[in-house]
Amino acid sequence: MTTQAHTGIAAPNVKLLIDGQLIDSQSSDWREVINPATQEVLARVPFATPAEVNAAVASAKDAFISWRKTAIGTRARIFLKYQQLIRENMQELAAILTAEQGKTLADAEGDVFRGLEVVEHAAAIGNLQLGELANNVASGVDTFTLRQPLGVCAGITPFNFPAMIPLWMFPMAIVTGNTFVLKPSEQDPMVTMRLAELALDAGIPAGVLNVVHGGAEVVDAICAHPDIKAVSFVGSTRVGTHVYNRASQSGKRVQCMMGAKNHAIVLPDAHKQQTLNNLVGAAFGAAGQRCMAVSVAILVGEAQQWLPELVEKAKALKVNAGAEPETDLGPVVSTSALERILSLIESGSQEGASLELDGRNPHVASYQKGNFIGPTLFSGVTPQMRIYREEIFGPVLCVMHANNLDEAIALINANPNGNGTAIFTRSGAAARHFQEEVNVGQVGINIPIPVPAPMFSFTGSRGSKLGDLGPYGKQVVQFYTQTKTVTERWFDENDVGGVNTTITLK
Ligand code: NAD
Repeated sequence: MTTQAHTGIAAPNVKLLIDGQLIDSQSSDWREVINPATQEVLARVPFATPAEVNAAVASAKDAFISWRKTAIGTRARIFLKYQQLIRENMQELAAILTAEQGKTLADAEGDVFRGLEVVEHAAAIGNLQLGELANNVASGVDTFTLRQPLGVCAGITPFNFPAMIPLWMFPMAIVTGNTFVLKPSEQDPMVTMRLAELALDAGIPAGVLNVVHGGAEVVDAICAHPDIKAVSFVGSTRVGTHVYNRASQSGKRVQCMMGAKNHAIVLPDAHKQQTLNNLVGAAFGAAGQRCMAVSVAILVGEAQQWLPELVEKAKALKVNAGAEPETDLGPVVSTSALERILSLIESGSQEGASLELDGRNPHVASYQKGNFIGPTLFSGVTPQMRIYREEIFGPVLCVMHANNLDEAIALINANPNGNGTAIFTRSGAAARHFQEEVNVGQVGINIPIPVPAPMFSFTGSRGSKLGDLGPYGKQVVQFYTQTKTVTERWFDENDVGGVNTTITLK
């Protein structure tokens, strides 16, 4: 990847994908894509003009006419080819992702891989988009369902999983017969564009997948566009709520997967070393920039005595550029994200939490300009504090105490978010009680980040989600299709029948 700083060559422009062509935007509004470990400018990304957004939607609308009639096996085979191309290009994709987003190379491969699993699932569409049939609902009458695509659908994605989350969206939308307009995060659009190029190589026809870049204006244009039938959004609660309201007001189907505050309960009977290792990985991996990161640990009863060991394990993690071997935590995505996290840490100290581990200003010898912050851990956190109320989205773990399991569950249920939660215990009875009583959509039992594999759906709930149906899995087939019921009878030529003035089918 060349940069202006190192080579004197201007950073490349990120292209738009419209009607099968990678084109240069005519926009006068451009942002820089910056390597968060070095501050090198990797590329410039355009904020697409209204005409470009309209052209992308028009192309998708036009492509829908033939794509919706394309045989299901043909659609599936494109995604079989696509999964192969993603596998063949895995290392290149991970390297682009790490350069623009900051996470470690191993975690970047994980990001691509979790998306790849959805592509594999899309290739199985033949078994997923089946309708239902009831024979003889009345004499000689059958009813069956068709699952028909909606038309042009759109996706808006966040910065933290620039491979996985676009792959949650367009493969399932397209394989069910829709066409798509994707708006990736403007902070790290390059790996998403590489995935779009590979999708073209796999055989996705012109206009079936389009990509436009931009910020609030492009998102608002998508939400208001009369030819877009459904919008899938993943990102913060503030923006997701806005997208949900705006897009539903203009009559679209909308699903918004949003912000989180994920609690893990630690019971004193848990496997101590496994539990602490899992907590540390889930709190600080990807520098805490995961919507399913564990951001609150509730130590129950005697487990409170494990705090010093938890701190020691967190302290041992290596902070460095994601591209360096043996790195545990890369930088956070931007200088403004870093400033926000630092101000939240400051507020935690001011509001009376105990700063057990202060990761501010870590020494990262070869990357002095990077947006680094090391693992940071507060104990004595209470629900009134800003560090508890707000999603920090950085490597900061809040530790709280509870006297028993029910007290810990009550704390979680009082929090407005419902993305993920976990319990660590050896007790099946305690785990079962927890899974029944906790009001959170994704529950882990000795699993800190319980993101379901693609045969299930992502099922965040309450404040973390707007809309009924999740991305991927069976639910997304429902999201991207309209069910039509057909009730049919074929007359027997010899039967003249009679007039029936009731509503009953006979
Ligand atoms: P974000 O909400 O800032 O951005 C998401 C998308 O919205 C981007 O494409 C961005 O360009 C666009 N956007 C930003 N501001 C906008 C505005 N004012 N109006 C319209 N559109 C706007 O989110 P982010 O910082 O990129 O991502 C982090 C957030 O995403 C965290 O809150 C995290 O929890 C959440 N997230 C949730 C899930 C989930 O499945 N629940 C998964 C990943 C990330």
